[in-house]
Amino acid sequence: HAKAAGRNNYQFFAADMNKATAERLNIERKLRHAIARNELALCFQPQFRADSSQPTGVEALIRWHHPTDGLISPLRFIPVAEETGIIVEIGEWVLLNACREMKHWIDAGLKPMRIAVNVSARQLRRRDFCETVAGALAGSGLPAELLELEITESSVMENPEEAIQILERLGRMGVSLAIDDFGTGYSSLAYLKLFPIDHLKIDRSFVADIEHDLNDRAIAFGTIALAHSLGLNVIAEGVETADQLELLRANGCDEVQGYLFSKPLTSAAAFAFLHARCRSE
Ligand code: C2E
Ligand code: MG
Ligand code: MG
Ligand code: MG
Repeated sequence: HAKAAGRNNYQFFAADMNKATAERLNIERKLRHAIARNELALCFQPQFRADSSQPTGVEALIRWHHPTDGLISPLRFIPVAEETGIIVEIGEWVLLNACREMKHWIDAGLKPMRIAVNVSARQLRRRDFCETVAGALAGSGLPAELLELEITESSVMENPEEAIQILERLGRMGVSLAIDDFGTGYSSLAYLKLFPIDHLKIDRSFVADIEHDLNDRAIAFGTIALAHSLGLNVIAEGVETADQLELLRANGCDEVQGYLFSKPLTSAAAFAFLHARCRSE
């Protein structure tokens, strides 16, 4: 009996595997044409000072509008793009277009502010990554000081010595750096001290239940204290309620980002939102 059940489980497992593989191949095939067919777009989520709610910048987030499948989440296609290497081309597209948008908004009268761009491990490992960043800055005319790259703990911990070299080069170019999704990966505090970074972003999973879960609260507040002792600013992501904001603010969190303030917006909506917020001060 047990053996039969085991075989059945295996068959279910194999069927699931095939389904997952088929879906992956399907995404890969379509993704190869996404840039040329103009299916990719960026949206922009504002970030704010926690104390005054003044905008400090925006994070560029990629969107894929497939003509028949509709909107496909980056959580589904970014991993495929990373495994297949398509992320290199997509990443270059994101960098150039994010820099262009901010430059365009500034030319249209927006107070200059930071634009943050997500960078995957595979992009960071490429020998020409710094040239790609320099190319996006030159191609858009955006000052390097306004560009921030968001990198995850796991991507820098793959090869910390090498990562330090790359991050230092980027730092010398004037670009700022943030560790994204902090607390979800494995990172050595000893290395954290060595990385030339400016911001730590507390992952949304620690913010979601911060009002009720004392462990999440301890992690969030501990991260803020740690970051400040290393001279880093802290951004909390996924802030959805006024209570979450108040807890974070009262405990020294520098900046916040989340649905409480704004969902990711189209370019025109982000410009209008930021322009109105900055003028009203
Ligand atoms: P991330 O960089 O941690 O981005 C934050 C994600 O949280 C975004 O999801 C954003 O829409 C979502 N979010 C923001 N505030 C809230 C909130 O208050 N509540 C909730 N429930 N969610 C919130 P999104 O846009 O689906 O992106 C998911 C992930 O995909 C990103 O996580 C990032 O890792 C990756 N990604 C997005 N765009 C790019 C890109 O251009 N390049 C690369 N390499 N990765 C990207
Ligand atoms: Mg991010
Ligand atoms: Mg994040
Ligand atoms: Mg996150």
